[in-house]
Amino acid sequence: MIRFLDLKAINERHRAEMDAAVKRVLDSGWYLLGKECEAFEREFAAYCGTRHAIGCANGLDALKLIIRAYGFGPGDEIIAPANTYIASLISISANGATPILVEPDPATYLIDPAKIEEKITPRTKAIMVVHLYGRTCEMAAIGAIAAKHALKVIEDCAQAHGARHDGRRAGNLGDAAGFSFYPGKNLGCLGDGGAVTTNDDELATRIRALRNYGSDVKYHFPYRGTNSRLDEVQAAWLRVKLPYLDADNARRDEIAARYCREITNPAITLPVRQDRQPSAAVDGNRHLSNVWHVFPVRAAQRDAFQAHLTECGIQTVIHYPIPPHRQPAYTEWHALSLPITEVIHDTIISLPISPVMTDDEVSEVIAAVNEWK
Ligand SMILES: *Cc1c(COP(=O)(O)O)cnc(C)c1O
Repeated sequence: MIRFLDLKAINERHRAEMDAAVKRVLDSGWYLLGKECEAFEREFAAYCGTRHAIGCANGLDALKLIIRAYGFGPGDEIIAPANTYIASLISISANGATPILVEPDPATYLIDPAKIEEKITPRTKAIMVVHLYGRTCEMAAIGAIAAKHALKVIEDCAQAHGARHDGRRAGNLGDAAGFSFYPGKNLGCLGDGGAVTTNDDELATRIRALRNYGSDVKYHFPYRGTNSRLDEVQAAWLRVKLPYLDADNARRDEIAARYCREITNPAITLPVRQDRQPSAAVDGNRHLSNVWHVFPVRAAQRDAFQAHLTECGIQTVIHYPIPPHRQPAYTEWHALSLPITEVIHDTIISLPISPVMTDDEVSEVIAAVNEWK
């Protein structure tokens, strides 16, 4: 069987280095907010090109901490994509603020900049962009809207580690960004982990305190904070894996290029390659590159298509089957009509694109997709 994402095989490649990293932490006798976390924060900030990276417990917390640190809460609105993983929206509502959902561009599946301005009210405080599936949003257009209305731009980078946009990395395209290091992400640890990146010194200082009960110096609490720390073992593992991220993303891109070239079944809609999307020209941007967290294709008969691939021994995953505004957790959105988001959720399916797939496995997937009627 071709696994969607063989995490064991992905981590196996680094076993010796990861074993050594655990030993280093064990020998140090220091397990939280120590040298490994500090070193990873330095290395990850350098990778993203930001002044700061602050480790925390997971991706949801990274986003929650940003919103909390800005002081956005009840009565405030934050513009967010309707087509996203629910964590993006939970990070807003968990702070008591209200997510205002915006439909995606049907070509890119990402928040449509042309539909943002009509949603701005005197209560709007920020725009959250989600670089979903590893593709960066249209930052020039979104940045211009944010500047015009004095809004913060918060990036959800949980699916976009290493993506480039106009020569800069995801995580350095807005005012602050949240990353997840959940095992299945492009940079994943062996449990939960997350980070905030930002160039804002003051925000970084506040988030550093907030993640540790609101403490700036030991046993002094300017804020009522929370406990959201990246532990030393996870940080040490992330330090092992970070230097391999670009190579893994390049392998994903190679697989994506083959899918785009060799999948010829007219019943399957391929994702638009980012350097070809119409908005690339609007952005004046020749340096966009996806990192292909997943490779989403669309099929009108999605469930039958998935069953066919399962029969061929190919594991697929649907990102995502039910849109946030149709979830029982958010009854206040049930009356919303978001037809583009709904069509995407009804037709989308992700093919395997893991960095440990072999060329033969990629060929097998292509053949199985092309033979489906
Ligand atoms: C994974 C993910 C998150 C949440 O990250 P966790 O580490 O699981 O909390 C947030 N947003 C998006 C788009 C994600 O894919």
